[in-house]
Amino acid sequence: MGNWVKLICGASFEDVADIRNLSLVYTLAGVDCIDCAADASVLNAVNDGIEAAQAILPIRRPWVMISVNDGEDLHFRKAEFDPDDCPPDCSRPCENVCPADAIFSNSGKAGPSKGVLAERCYGCGRCLPICPYDNIRAITYVRDVAATAKLIQRDEVDAIEIHTSGRQAESFQQLWNGLGDSIHKLRLVAVSLPYLGDLTIPAMDSMYATMKTSLHCLNLWQLDGRPMSGDIGRGATREAIKFALHLASLEDKPKGFLQLAGGTNAHTVEGLKKERLFRTTSISDDSKGEKVPLDSPETSHALISGVAFGGYARKIVGRVLSSLQSDYGYARLEDHPDHLLKALQASLALVGTVKCYNAN
Ligand code: SF4
Ligand code: SF4
Repeated sequence: MGNWVKLICGASFEDVADIRNLSLVYTLAGVDCIDCAADASVLNAVNDGIEAAQAILPIRRPWVMISVNDGEDLHFRKAEFDPDDCPPDCSRPCENVCPADAIFSNSGKAGPSKGVLAERCYGCGRCLPICPYDNIRAITYVRDVAATAKLIQRDEVDAIEIHTSGRQAESFQQLWNGLGDSIHKLRLVAVSLPYLGDLTIPAMDSMYATMKTSLHCLNLWQLDGRPMSGDIGRGATREAIKFALHLASLEDKPKGFLQLAGGTNAHTVEGLKKERLFRTTSISDDSKGEKVPLDSPETSHALISGVAFGGYARKIVGRVLSSLQSDYGYARLEDHPDHLLKALQASLALVGTVKCYNAN
C-alpha cells in the first residue's frame, strides 16, 4: 500500500474558521492532499491554513482538491428544520446525535429560521430518523459546473473529486463535458463511488471511457465504503476495507490509483494489515524537488495507494477546536500553542498510522 493521506474537510462542510485551522494542523501532520467544498471562501480558508502551517515549518504544500457531484449524493445535502415546529418539551435528540455540532437550541448559534447551522452541517443524515416528530428534512443540491470550472482556474486548486453513484453515466458525462478545458490544469482527477457489487467495474469502465480522451493527469478511484461514518467507531471502516479487498483482487479494472474513504479511522490500517493489503512504500521526489507520493513508482504498483480521513479526522481535532472556541471565540490555532500541540498530537497519531511515523 502507498502512503498517500488525504484530509477530507467535507464536500458540504463550510465552517471556514474550522477549515482553516484543520488545514493548518493536518498540513503540519504531513497529509498529501486536502479535500474541501468547491466554494471560493472555503478554498481561501484551506489556503490560509496551509500558509499558516508553512510559516511555522518549511513543509511541503499538500495538494488542494475540490469536491463536486454529478447528481443526488449524500455528501451534498443539508439538514433543515423549523424550531417553531418543535414541542418545547422535546429532549432534542437531534442535537445530541449531530457529529458536527450543527444543531443548537434556539438561544444558541443556529438561526431561528433554520434550526441547523448550515455551514457546519455536512449531510451525514443522523438527525433525520431520530426526530420523534419527523420535523427534519434534507435539502440536496448539485454544485454548479460552470462555477467549478472557474474555480479550477485558480492556482491553488490541484485536483478535483467527482462524487457519483456510478449509476448515472449521462450525468457524469455532462459534468465532465461541462468542466471543459479546466481539466487540463489539474494534477489529479478522483472519482468517489460506492460499492456496486458486480456493477462496480462496468461503472468504472464507463466513467473511465468518458474521461480518457481529455485526462492528461493522474486519476484515482476513491472507494467510499460507509459514507461519513469514520467517527462512529472501530467497525465503521470494515466496508471500505471490503471494497478495497474486492477491487484489489481483480486484474481487469480501469487505470487509476485506489484509495479508501467512507468509515476510515484510526483502525483502518490495522484492518488493512490483517487483509495483507498494507505495505508501506517510500515516497520519491519529482523534478521540482517536490515530494509526490502518488506518483512514485513504488506507489503506482501498490494495490492501494492511500487512505482519506474525514469525519474521524475532524472529530479528533474538532475537540481541540471546540475548546479553543469556547475559551477564545474564533481564534487562530497557532496563537495558542497548548491547543496547537494537542491538535497536532491527535492528527499525527492518525496520519502516522499510514505514514508509519512510529515505526522503527
Ligand atoms: S446530524 Fe448530520 S445531517 Fe444532521 S445537522 Fe448534523 S451534520 Fe447535518
Ligand atoms: S428532535 Fe425534532 S422536534 Fe426535537 S428539537 Fe430536534 S428537530 Fe425539534
